[in-house]
Amino acid sequence: MLKDYYLEALEETQKRLQKGKQIWLTNASFVKEGNNSITISFPAKMYLNSFNTHCKNELQSALDDIAGTHIDIETIIGEAKEFDEVEENSVQIEEEAPKKNSYLNPIYTFENFIPCENTNFAYNAAKAIAMHPGINYNPCLIYGGVGLGKTHLLQSVGNYIEKENPKKKVIYVTAETFTNDFINSIQQKNSSSFRIKYRKADVLLIDDIHFLQEKISTQEELFHTFNDLYEANKQIIFTCDRPISELKGFTDRLKSRFTRGLNLNLTAPDYETRVAILKKKCEAQNVKIFDSVISYMAENIKTNVRDLEGSLTTLIAYSKLIKTNITLEIAQEQLKNLISAPMASEQDISISTIVKEVASYYNIEISEIKGKKRTAIIKDARNMAIYLTRKITQYSTTEIGNYFDRDHSTITHSIDKVDQERKQNSDIAAAIDTLENTIRSKSK
Ligand code: ADP
Ligand code: MG
Repeated sequence: MLKDYYLEALEETQKRLQKGKQIWLTNASFVKEGNNSITISFPAKMYLNSFNTHCKNELQSALDDIAGTHIDIETIIGEAKEFDEVEENSVQIEEEAPKKNSYLNPIYTFENFIPCENTNFAYNAAKAIAMHPGINYNPCLIYGGVGLGKTHLLQSVGNYIEKENPKKKVIYVTAETFTNDFINSIQQKNSSSFRIKYRKADVLLIDDIHFLQEKISTQEELFHTFNDLYEANKQIIFTCDRPISELKGFTDRLKSRFTRGLNLNLTAPDYETRVAILKKKCEAQNVKIFDSVISYMAENIKTNVRDLEGSLTTLIAYSKLIKTNITLEIAQEQLKNLISAPMASEQDISISTIVKEVASYYNIEISEIKGKKRTAIIKDARNMAIYLTRKITQYSTTEIGNYFDRDHSTITHSIDKVDQERKQNSDIAAAIDTLENTIRSKSK
């Protein structure tokens, strides 16, 4: 462990020393560590003298700072030869071993990702980052609801860089792993190796940062990791399941780091893209499914790509087990739970109930709420449904946008508008109360 401190202190001292003096550090080799001491060796007395004159004080103070206590630096001449060889060998082995990041899933590539009109920008930007990491779009945030391809796109960047630029160190972690690593490092009193690991990255990919909600110490650590990497022009990409403005339990300074660079929003794919995705997945698994079945699935499963894939897996498994082709009837039967009741979770029941109750309150058709008509009454009803969805359910505005087929800013606008009206007009406030009560009682 002291060796980690020493290596970190060495880096720090390189930065602190005046230009030209760093050279005297390069002759030092780590030999061993004791309780509160380390031993380093120099190839000859001359080097040791220069080290003592130019660098020792700085190294000593950096080491004490990092270790949080005084560590004796003992010096010897020559004897580290054997040790050096071992060290050098082990370094060589590390360099020769394939530098693969085992956490990256090789199937997540740009080739396997099918962008649609709405996600084309995100797709191309991610590709540009992969080609020139740390240059133009740093940091980058990819956000959007579940199953829309955030992890896929994030890992595509990692896979691309590992292939094209194997010297670059790519680290992919979920925010959960980052948190666990951090906690372990504290428990094992080994925070320097945690720091070294993450701050050595050329490309740091952190998935699902919403997981860090209320985890203030981990946020703090991420904040410092971010600053270090950012200043060194290392590429950082985050993903999040909602816009940063909607993250609760985060420090403002970390939030501002997340949004500092390029922000990319992933939305649900359109019909044509859903068809293309299904066809590509069939092709990849070498299975044939009738076009009528593909259209049926693409028409009915609009929520996200994960659901689309899930239904395809169900059908393929069925066809293999029963040894039959998938006909439209079989697809309808097998997917009936998913399709006739796509609103299976409690949250979803509330959304459909909200829309239904609001439509009946305003005396319009349910379909008009999600439709495009802009007559005053329909607009009011639509805004109300959006406002109530936000108020009653846990959905993020992006998810609400996906449901109502509107972009995030329209949703925010609708919510603000109703909120303003509620404050100024007691009739509106009463309508909200009534509707909310009805919806809650019907959702029980
Ligand atoms: P998220 O991280 O946003 O929850 P994922 O990246 O895990 O979503 O995507 C869910 C599944 O859908 C993955 O298997 C992924 O490969 C697939 N997927 C998502 N978007 C696309 C797309 N545009 N083209 C092809 N596959 C996609
Ligand atoms: Mg994901």
